[in-house]
Amino acid sequence: MKKPLDLVIVGGGTAGWMTAAAFAAVFPAGASRIRLVESSEIGIVGVGEATLPHIRFFNKRIGIDEPDLMAKTQATFKLGIEFVDWARIGDRYIHPFGAYGSKIAGVPFHNFWLRARAAGETASIDDYSLAIVAARMNRFTLPSEDPTAVLSTFGYAFQFDASLYARYLRAFSETRGVVRTDGKVVDVALRGTDGYVESIKLESGEVITGDLFIDCSGFRGLLIEQTLKTGYDEWTHWLPCDRAVAMPCENSGPLTPYTRATAREAGWQWRIPLQHRMGNGYVYSSRFISDDEAAAKLISRLDGKPLADPRFLRFTAGRRRKTWNRNVVAIGLAGGFLEPLESTSIYLIQIAITQLLDYLAGEPRAGVFDARIVDAFNRWIEMEYDRVRDFLILHYHATSRDDAPIWNYCRTMPVPDSLVHKMELFRRRARVVTYKDGLFLEPSWLAVYFGQRVMPDAWDPLADAVDANEVSRQMRTVHEQVQTAVARMPTHEEFLAQYCPGAAQSLGMSA
Ligand SMILES: Cc1cc2nc3c(=O)[nH]c(=O)nc-3n(C[C@H](O)[C@H](O)[C@H](O)COP(=O)(O)OP(=O)(O)OC[C@H]3O[C@@H](n4cnc5c(N)ncnc54)[C@H](O)[C@@H]3O)c2cc1C
Repeated sequence: MKKPLDLVIVGGGTAGWMTAAAFAAVFPAGASRIRLVESSEIGIVGVGEATLPHIRFFNKRIGIDEPDLMAKTQATFKLGIEFVDWARIGDRYIHPFGAYGSKIAGVPFHNFWLRARAAGETASIDDYSLAIVAARMNRFTLPSEDPTAVLSTFGYAFQFDASLYARYLRAFSETRGVVRTDGKVVDVALRGTDGYVESIKLESGEVITGDLFIDCSGFRGLLIEQTLKTGYDEWTHWLPCDRAVAMPCENSGPLTPYTRATAREAGWQWRIPLQHRMGNGYVYSSRFISDDEAAAKLISRLDGKPLADPRFLRFTAGRRRKTWNRNVVAIGLAGGFLEPLESTSIYLIQIAITQLLDYLAGEPRAGVFDARIVDAFNRWIEMEYDRVRDFLILHYHATSRDDAPIWNYCRTMPVPDSLVHKMELFRRRARVVTYKDGLFLEPSWLAVYFGQRVMPDAWDPLADAVDANEVSRQMRTVHEQVQTAVARMPTHEEFLAQYCPGAAQSLGMSA
């Protein structure tokens, strides 16, 4: 019989506990032994509060009950992200988790909207997106599984308390056999023959050996960098923000089913509504503002009474040169960091875990890793990071703001060739570069292009071949269906109160 894989996870933040939970739930019984070491003295970052719809597939795969998770993490629903003041001060748009209309005669909907607009149509493309219209009206319901229904044209994610999420996954993992140790790793031993990590030593003196070590130790990259010196590709010249200050406050006003990102004088501010509080933070570039000034600006712009002191974080945009090096795989902040503008970090954790699970499932012997598998895994993760990177850069670059040095820098900076190519294709013929794997899909690019005033010179000529009357009829139908469906939806708060145990109480509603 195959020897079980001895898996050692260093770190108990979101990355560590997501990894532990997934392996405990998905790996066949007896195929692995999982140890997780975390240091309560060091603590976790604990600020990853906004997610992408993909997290639902992760939850489903490992068997997490959604209402239970939402109740225990004080979660709310998320239909997208609202961007305020990005292209110009006064602009606002929503990046929705869902489509704009649907194809007509096989041609993407936005081409018809562009054609109608050129002919004098005044409706915004947002009016054809159920996720956007529902978000603007603070309404929510679950999507329909009937692909012909307008209610099937959107997805959703969660906004939750990151510390409660780690706690939730810890309980989930421990009941499935994961062994946790609270202790600080003070030494790492390498095997003489191949330089693989042989064991880690804790402050208590305990030595833990393993076949595969997952480095979830956060920005410090204890194994992947401090021990294996893997190297880091830094992207601050494209993504200049390198610090954040976070501060929760009391909720006020209706509970929005979306996250807000407002462009500021040296970066941007997030606003993430949870059931019991509002998460806030200012992500900024230390080249353009001091820590004290950033904190003062954040405090002056909170919607409610502060609930904690400001918390400062430092980071460097980029990714580790190899995510999997020898017998160490870096997941989470140890593997890289792209700022939270599009809530992508938890997605990147999830994708690394699911890829790893799939690759390991085919490995013949515990502790022996085929170099081709390792290379394929690393290439996949690189591709994921590169795609997110380009999308983030677009937000900073496609601006006409000239009121602050950061915007002058970003507007005029050279961007990666891969992004230049995507933008040129869109400008020429409204063509969105699509791909099978990785973030982001067509509606996401459209939202940011249109929202940030990147307008194409022409639309797909195939759209001109479709009868104009038929197009108007179909556009009117979608418009009406969206408005009618949203008008029938409950408010976000009403839906939460009936879906999620305890939410009515957290929201101060009578159930
Ligand atoms: C400002 C900011 C905002 C963010 N917002 C979002 C968001 O909205 N959405 C999103 O998806 N992501 C977001 N993220 C990213 C998200 O917070 C992280 O991806 C997530 O928290 C994962 O962190 P981690 O588990 O890798 O690291 P950490 O939370 O830092 O955990 C590291 C763990 O390693 C342990 N450790 C470290 N050294 C040792 C040692 N020597 N011995 C033992 N244990 C050790 C620590 O105790 C801890 O348990 C944000 C990040 C930042 C900085």
